[in-house]
Amino acid sequence: MKDASSEAQKTKRRSFKFCPRCGSTDVFWAQGMPQFWSLWQCRNCGYQGAFILEDGNLAEKLQEEWKNKKQ
Ligand SMILES: [Zn+2]
Repeated sequence: MKDASSEAQKTKRRSFKFCPRCGSTDVFWAQGMPQFWSLWQCRNCGYQGAFILEDGNLAEKLQEEWKNKKQ
């Protein structure tokens, strides 16, 4: 019998995901909707899409831009 659990040890957990529109970390992976492909969704701005940002520096800029837009 083979045990596949040893492969899971390599999983990275340090990388954060950011919304590419507003830079928020309040994003989640939406699955199980038969009419869509699996998508990222943002609770902050309502973004939906397959693209997600993993660059924290860029996300900070987006957050500032988003704040300015909202005013
Ligand atoms: Zn967003």
